[in-house]
Amino acid sequence: MSQSPSDRKPRFPLKLDQVAVRPVAGRAPAPAVAAREVLRPQAPLHQAEQDRRRHTTPGGVGLDSVHVRRRMVERLLADGIGHAGVLEAFGMVPRHLFVDTALVNQAYEDTSLPIGLGQTISKPSVVAAMIQLLCARPGLVGPGADTPHPLGACLEIGTGCGYQAALLGQMARRVVSIERLHDLHLKARANLELVRPHLPRWPDVRLVFGDGMLGHGPSAPYDTIIAAAGGQALPEAWLDQLAPGGRLVAPTDDGRGGGQVLAIVDRLPDGSLRHSRAGAVLFVPLKSGTT
Ligand code: SAH
Repeated sequence: MSQSPSDRKPRFPLKLDQVAVRPVAGRAPAPAVAAREVLRPQAPLHQAEQDRRRHTTPGGVGLDSVHVRRRMVERLLADGIGHAGVLEAFGMVPRHLFVDTALVNQAYEDTSLPIGLGQTISKPSVVAAMIQLLCARPGLVGPGADTPHPLGACLEIGTGCGYQAALLGQMARRVVSIERLHDLHLKARANLELVRPHLPRWPDVRLVFGDGMLGHGPSAPYDTIIAAAGGQALPEAWLDQLAPGGRLVAPTDDGRGGGQVLAIVDRLPDGSLRHSRAGAVLFVPLKSGTT
């Protein structure tokens, strides 16, 4: 995928001045960032067995995972994620419980990781930037901005391992998440059951096996729609299911040979749509049908 220099768009993480950040009123301010630390996921051999047990015993959200997760949050803050609710959600959801045992040591690095069936869990910095963009939906200006559920009713396309669904669930009134691969749908179900007891508030997250290109009509409309897979164009169903004041954030082809970009679509209170973009991205393909 080649781009001419003039076509080149900024990549994630977005700089602070490229992202509309509106901290949630009433929440504790985000902690000051300590000097940026380098993660050393490959622990020395003599610690390996100890680490393995600490990270993989059932319910093993040990002290160490809290510590490395806090460092991930500090890096997100340093990289321009300023929304207190987003940072709080990343601090709460144990990412290491969503990845295979062999990858546990990389769970808190800013990297995408394989989750099986050729799919990947996205980089934390990209997921955080997308969720932060959703929080700046047009319906959340004025008095309503002070809400524990800035994402309102949320639709996710591409459940994958369920990590992002769990994050969204910390910030949404309710979440519907759709996955087209049955094995991954089942895996996400199991992951969320495992993680559930470790989350301070277990929200309304509904996992649906189906083709997300159709959205999910029965629970529409949605205040926020987020896709973890990108196609040639945004499916009509997503736009139809976006509530007035709502925002959609999804990777999609830029239509000019420049590859995938992050598309933002706002449905304004008068019902009209406003399209914008936020830089080049690279997500797995959005495919139709189920398997
Ligand atoms: N949010 C996920 C990332 C999943 S990767 C996580 O936190 O793990 C993208 C996912 O989108 C893949 O699991 C892929 O199967 C799914 N996908 C692709 N096209 C889809 C479609 N039409 N409907 C539902 N899911 C789809």
